[in-house]
Amino acid sequence: MVAFKPGYLRLYETRELEEKIEQLFGILESCELCARKCKVNRLEGEKGYCKSGKELTVSSYGPHFGEEPELVGTHGSGTIFLTNCNLLCIYCQNYEISHLGEGRITDEAEVAEYMLQLQYTGCHNINFVTPTHFTPQLIKAISIAAGKGLRLPIVWNCGGYENVETIKLLDGVIDIYMPDIKYGTSEPAKKYSNSPDYFDMCKEAIKEMHRQVGDLKVDERGIACRGLLVRHLVLPDDLAGSEEVLEFIASLSRNTYVNIMDQYRPCGEAHKYKELSRRPNSSEYFKAVDLARKLGLHRGFRVRTLLL
Ligand code: SF4
Repeated sequence: MVAFKPGYLRLYETRELEEKIEQLFGILESCELCARKCKVNRLEGEKGYCKSGKELTVSSYGPHFGEEPELVGTHGSGTIFLTNCNLLCIYCQNYEISHLGEGRITDEAEVAEYMLQLQYTGCHNINFVTPTHFTPQLIKAISIAAGKGLRLPIVWNCGGYENVETIKLLDGVIDIYMPDIKYGTSEPAKKYSNSPDYFDMCKEAIKEMHRQVGDLKVDERGIACRGLLVRHLVLPDDLAGSEEVLEFIASLSRNTYVNIMDQYRPCGEAHKYKELSRRPNSSEYFKAVDLARKLGLHRGFRVRTLLL
């Protein structure tokens, strides 16, 4: 049962989706899809920081049960993992996919079929994981799938290093934005993700996402249908700048859904950095949680349980 009409269907019916697709593919000529603004001509095969040309490359797809409960429901979130990444954090837990390019070249029609299969399987949404660098191709795939009966909300599960102008073009297409906010300060963003302006770019993009879709809304089954869901991964020694991040999130709305994540573990090239070679301990994690509660945030994270 789908309890609401996703935004892209209206744009498909009015043919506005076609216009957006044309505009988005135009950006590939001098690519500024993300905050890196490499200005390479991807239509001619040039590649920028994300090492992606014009071909859509997918690593895997299928129902996923490890996402937030509001996305997983009873039948899973329909994830489609895109190959490569525009952020390339050195500690990425999907290093083979993001850095090493593990995946298969496909096309928009085939990805539309994946989406329809995920819908048929009973998934509650289509969850594009690391989609930013393939935005035009994915919106085209959504359009093809819409014409063949896709009715699920789209989750835009991105790393937060976005170009706000690209996000503006997604207005009305994306139902659920799920960005990371990885860093609240410049130094670690530069050191581990080569993006010193990460927090500024991220804040601008997330304000626009929130303007478009508002706080996360769930249907009568408790399943997400529209809104903003933010993820923040706590790093050891507060390298993620959790205070700055949570203050920004609370300034958007105290009803913002924020998943404060504790699952960091050293992956990829993290072993090269002593400070990243361990997991955060529980006191580091709950310091972030306590702060979120003090700021008035109350959705999406575990609370400290006191054993009396
Ligand atoms: S998507 Fe971002 S990283 Fe990739 S080429 Fe475009 S601007 Fe560069």
